[in-house]
Order: sequence, then C-alpha cells, then structure tokens
Amino acid sequence: MAQGANAIRRQKTVRTMSDPQKLSAPVPPGGTIGILGGGQLARMLALAAARLGLKTHVFSDVRDAPAFQVTSAHTYASYRNAEALRKFAQAVDVITFEFENVPSESIDTLSLLKPVRPNARSLAITQERFEEKSFVSSLGIATAAFAPVNSAAEARAAFGKISSQRAVLKTRRLGYDGKGQAMVSSPEQAVAAFEAFREVPCILEAFVTFDFEASIVAVRGSDGTFAAYDPPENEHGDHILRRSIVPSRLSAARVEEAREIARKVGDALDYVGTFCVELFVTADGLLVNEIAPRVHNSGHWTIDACAASQFENHIRAVAGWPLASTERHSNAVMENLIGEDARNWQSVVRRGGCLHLYGKSEIRDGRKMGHITWVKPRSARRPNQKTSD
Ligand code: AMP
Repeated sequence: MAQGANAIRRQKTVRTMSDPQKLSAPVPPGGTIGILGGGQLARMLALAAARLGLKTHVFSDVRDAPAFQVTSAHTYASYRNAEALRKFAQAVDVITFEFENVPSESIDTLSLLKPVRPNARSLAITQERFEEKSFVSSLGIATAAFAPVNSAAEARAAFGKISSQRAVLKTRRLGYDGKGQAMVSSPEQAVAAFEAFREVPCILEAFVTFDFEASIVAVRGSDGTFAAYDPPENEHGDHILRRSIVPSRLSAARVEEAREIARKVGDALDYVGTFCVELFVTADGLLVNEIAPRVHNSGHWTIDACAASQFENHIRAVAGWPLASTERHSNAVMENLIGEDARNWQSVVRRGGCLHLYGKSEIRDGRKMGHITWVKPRSARRPNQKTSD
C-alpha cells in the first residue's frame, strides 16, 4: 500500500516538474490542436488537420469567425480572458496561432499548461518591428537601413542616420497590410508622421527600390528538420497582397539564398511550424522585409500546387509529426479575392481554377474573402522570363 502511495506521489512530482512546453509524444490521430484566431488561416489549418484525422479547437474573439464553421470545437471569448484560455488549454494537446498579435500575457497563461508552437520568443520578436530587424541583422542577414524612433528628436535624427532620400516610418507594433506606415522624404515629414501616429514607438526604414517582392514559406519540425517551398513572386496593390506567382523570376542562386535565410531564421528562433520571410529583391541582392511567425497568404498556392500544403506542414510540425514533402508539382498563380471581387463569385466559378472561399458573411473593402489558384503542369520557368541575375 505504502509503496503504491509513494509511486503515485512520485508520478505527481514528475508531472509537476515536467516542462509543459515539451510534447512527450506526437499528438495521435483523434488528438486536438488548439488554434488562437479564427480567420481564413485558422480555417485552412483546421481543414488540413481534419484530413490528418486530427481535431481542432479554435479560440477567437469574433462571434462568427470563419474557422468556427469547420472546427470540431470553438471558444468565443476575449484573448485576455484568463479563465477561457485555461479551459481552452485543458481541452487541447498543443496550441498554435494564426496571427502574430496575440497578447503576450495570453501566451504566458497558455504556456503554463500546454506546449505553444511556435514558441513565445518567436512571437515576441516578430511582433515588434525594431526587435525583428535587429534580430535579422544580428544573424548577418541584410535588411533596409533602419533606426528606432521614440521621440520627435529621434525622428529627425533617424532620417539623417539611415542616409536615404526617402524613408518609411512604421509603428513598431500592430502593423499589417501597410497599416501604421507613412512615406516620408524629409526630417520634418518624419516628425509629422511620428506625431500623426500619436508618438507610439516607431522605426524609420530606408525606402527600398526593389525589382520585385518575393517570399519564402518554410517549415521547421519539432526535431529541427527544415523544409521550404519554392519562393513565390508577390504583387501588392494598396499594400495588400494581390497575386503570388511560382516559379518566380529568382535565379537558382537567389532561391538557395532565400532558403538559407529562412533556415538561419528558423534555427535561431528554435522555431516549430510554418513561417514566412518576406523579401525585397534588389539589384544588389535580397533584403528581408519582415518575418511572419505563421502560415502566410503568399503560401496559399501550396494547397493546390504542392505535395503537402503550408497548412498541413504546420499542423504536422506542431503535432510533432514528421514533415511532408514541400515539392511543387505545378506552376501556380494565386489571386486574392478582395472585397467586392467576391460579389462576382459566379463568374469566378465559371473561370475555373481552384476556388477557396472563406465563408465570411460580410463583404468589406480590403477584406480577404477568398482566393483562386490557377495551376499548370510544372515547368522550370515562365515563358519569356528573365531571372533576377
Ligand atoms: P510591411 O507591412 O512591412 O510588410 O509592408 C507592406 C508593403 O509595403 C511591402 O510589401 C512593400 O510593398 C511596402 N514596403 C514596406 N517597407 C518598405 C520599404 N522599406 N521600402 C519600400 N517598400 C516598402
């Protein structure tokens, strides 16, 4: 009897001392992946998980979040509701997220209970533009020249520091799709833009004259295995991604350079899951614009043009499974359906292509409503295409 009680006590001790961030075994089919955020990224993650026999539990602060339609369980609550977060953590095996602006206190609450993948440090660095650019530079990877701006005097001085005629002032936090950004071409304009942003901490970046934009979507498994997709070329309009095209105009050498950038970033963060590094392609080489610690819009084409999508590989990584092939079997052009584009769904359907609609009930300007991927059997290069070298 006494021996039995001791054994139980020992087991309890082991459990309390164990690191909640360590997954002792892969999440088996039937297990549950918790996802913070309920937009289209969570929706596509949930669909990929379902194909692998895994359940998902989506946590969102939006009542009719698109991912709620396709998940086995959901919680509608604020990301700051500690009690709701605790219940959610108890109901799942591992936790991930679809957006980088999850409050760090929420991650702290969850991390005490269940593994959070990617880790809190990856999130903290990529949530803050100055931290992010400093981190990238510390790895010896090139970025646009940048300087911190915390006061009007710093805004003025920063303009001189980055030695550029044109610059972009960006808020350090909560910027996406060009929000919280202003183009400036003098110290006075930099000060005015800083004041217009209500003097929140900012970063001033040299304006980059790029040939085109590209990105590399990569995935790192829980054992450190690394894989990357072919980097697409990305076209933006009003700061929103419009199209991603693969193969891109990048030369084979630049593709390899992009992979190495992603590998370095992933290793340095001890990252688990899918992530994206956004790149400016210039005559002098690749510059990192930003890192998204999540699946990314410029990787949506992987659903229809690759052996396994960025969503499947993210789920595999966070569940502790081996990664699947990132091999591309088709050439692809992915077009976002934004705002009013979605009203023409009948003509879109008639045009063919692989259609993905996100189940959003309300059309709003600039809102991503769906995407369409045009695929063709793989060929090395687009017709009449020049490479970046
Ligand atoms: P971001 O929110 O930093 O991803 O920026 C959104 C878009 O703004 C980028 O995809 C670029 O098209 C443009 N952009 C951002 N920073 C710069 C820069 N330093 N130089 C030129 N264009 C930029």
